[in-house]
Amino acid sequence: MDGQLTEPSAVVQKFENSLPYTVNVDFCIEGAIKALAPPKDLTISQWAAENRILTGEASSEKGKWTNERTPYLVEIMDMLSPQSPCSDVAFMKGSQIGGTECLINTALYYMLQNPCPIGLYQMTDDEAANFERMRLAPTFAAMGMDKYFTNDTAGCKEYPGGIFFVGSGGSASQLRSKPLQVVLCDEISGWVKDCNGEGDPCDLVKRRTTNFPRKKRFWNSTPTVRGECRITKKFEQGDQRYYNVPCPHCGELYVWKFANMVWDKDADGNNLPYTARMKCPHCKGETMEWRKTELLAQGQWVPTNPNGAYPSYHLSAFYSPLGWYSWEEAVTDFLEAKGDPQKMKVWTNNVCGEAWDEDNQESHDYSELELRREDYGCDVPDGAVILTAGVDTQDDRLEVEIVGWGRGLESWSIDYRIIPGDPDLDIVWESLDHILGNAYTKADGTPLYVAAALVDSGGHKTSAVYKYCAKREWRRIYASIGARGPNRPVISRPGSTKKSSAENAKLITVGTDTVKDWFFNVLGYNHPGPGYCHFPEKDVYDAEHFKQLTAEVKKKRMSRGFLTSVYEKIYERNEPLDCRVYARAALNLVGIDVDKMAETGNSYTRNPARRIVPQKGRVINQGVKL
Ligand SMILES: [Zn+2]
Repeated sequence: MDGQLTEPSAVVQKFENSLPYTVNVDFCIEGAIKALAPPKDLTISQWAAENRILTGEASSEKGKWTNERTPYLVEIMDMLSPQSPCSDVAFMKGSQIGGTECLINTALYYMLQNPCPIGLYQMTDDEAANFERMRLAPTFAAMGMDKYFTNDTAGCKEYPGGIFFVGSGGSASQLRSKPLQVVLCDEISGWVKDCNGEGDPCDLVKRRTTNFPRKKRFWNSTPTVRGECRITKKFEQGDQRYYNVPCPHCGELYVWKFANMVWDKDADGNNLPYTARMKCPHCKGETMEWRKTELLAQGQWVPTNPNGAYPSYHLSAFYSPLGWYSWEEAVTDFLEAKGDPQKMKVWTNNVCGEAWDEDNQESHDYSELELRREDYGCDVPDGAVILTAGVDTQDDRLEVEIVGWGRGLESWSIDYRIIPGDPDLDIVWESLDHILGNAYTKADGTPLYVAAALVDSGGHKTSAVYKYCAKREWRRIYASIGARGPNRPVISRPGSTKKSSAENAKLITVGTDTVKDWFFNVLGYNHPGPGYCHFPEKDVYDAEHFKQLTAEVKKKRMSRGFLTSVYEKIYERNEPLDCRVYARAALNLVGIDVDKMAETGNSYTRNPARRIVPQKGRVINQGVKL
């Protein structure tokens, strides 16, 4: 016996104190330990595998419990076992993954195997009563526990060595009951903020356990709204474990999440949720759902916050065992919820098992973008028919992105370049000239040139930008400035400011919010077609690039008494986003119908840098002199 199970030292101490005159103390102690020790040193998962019976009425399955069905619950249950030294365990979860059974297994274990005072708390009194009637009563019956309770009333059951309370986080009197060694708190994110004026109900529950050195507190919940979501906070305070599953192609471990999910569309562009697969972020190999059982068994929990105070777990509904909640259903539910914030909140909470961010509705998962990089096999894929560029100006460098555009503003990132150096130096602009004047070829060898470019003139290098652009407006390279606010046009007519007129440059104002609204919308499109953003498999398009590309989110702010939406940085650097916004705005300078051009199968091959030198006095048409 490993001595951790029943605190034999405490038992021994008590025994010794009460028997000061006994001659054969050893014998008595041995007897006492034998009587008080549980029959086997089982953890909760081992105990459940041997003893737990599921009833069809109370759970989705019937018969003997098997850990093979939900292997991810094994470690969580074992952390809740007396063999584990931790006091708190947090479980942030999506629906249909067996979280409630984990709670019931723990309650049964501490009633039957390791008796002590236990409390199980639901969100409201009604839910507690329902839980007792619908889930616990049939379970007790199936387990043959009817005779086990010496006192059996609603909300309170006594048994040899302990007592079991069922209550709710909404009733302070229930939370103030007797001291408890084990508290199992369900759906804590839905619990009231303040319980009958006595404070946070979770704190009240916590206080019940303070006298027990071997206390266990299980915080279990689907999340709600970020900021006020209890389980998110409990998860973040813990060591943040995610269930990593090996990729059957490369063997690398990764987390099953929506960002890694792909599915097909039919020829008409209709989504086909039944084709849902997980895509490995390491080798891009895809996993079909039928392999779930085998892969779940090989999974392991990986902590991501080593300084966490206790074990905390996150599991989405994508891990739901075969036959419970499928990937197809997850995609179908997503497509139904898309565009409706209320439905998306429910989907995010229940399927992703993540808190809904009311503020950051526009935020994107940049790791998903890195995953969609593709090998073009040439500079410019066939779908792109025209190139534009956006240039961001910093004090010590220029950053430029070349973007190809196709039907329905489907876009292909062609190249992203960082030109180091102070923009007050000519050499920096010479490098830019080279990049903007370059030919970018299609698979068949057709060269395309940058048809238009906008150069950011905000910041400290305004004069240098004006100087450069003034001499290049004939090839559609213009100085530009971003203007915030709703309903602005993508670009304004080229105009002059006092400063730009000194350099004889025209300034184009870009409606940045208008472009960002469009961009962040299409960036969320998952499948090639109108609007979809393609990225090449180039080193410069790394995780950092996508982090910066998605560095801003729209937030609601009060301005002059009105609620308005503004873009705010959530990451320090955002140059790729600015470049992309200017590249999109530059397309409006060209004045061609991209859709029409794409339909004809042609591309915009003119090189605006090649000046058509007019031959003086040559008459090519009667009456028109060039
Ligand atoms: Zn792989």
